[in-house]
Amino acid sequence: MPLRCEKPGCRWTAIAPSSAAAREQYREHLKDEHTTEVDAEIPEGMVQVKVDGEWKTMTPEEAKSFHEDGHGD
Ligand SMILES: [Zn+2]
Repeated sequence: MPLRCEKPGCRWTAIAPSSAAAREQYREHLKDEHTTEVDAEIPEGMVQVKVDGEWKTMTPEEAKSFHEDGHGD
């Protein structure tokens, strides 16, 4: 099922093989086209972590383990 942008007047639709990938694309789209809205998209208790130049939303535990995986430079 295609994921569509909910912003008024925006016709963006995700083209992705999975709903998870679609949500990822939607988040990218929000960041690129509706920057001021991004913060409102972060669920309570979640954090955003910048991964390879992209903002990912994850739980604090996931963010912690992600950093422990040694992606930093
Ligand atoms: Zn949009």
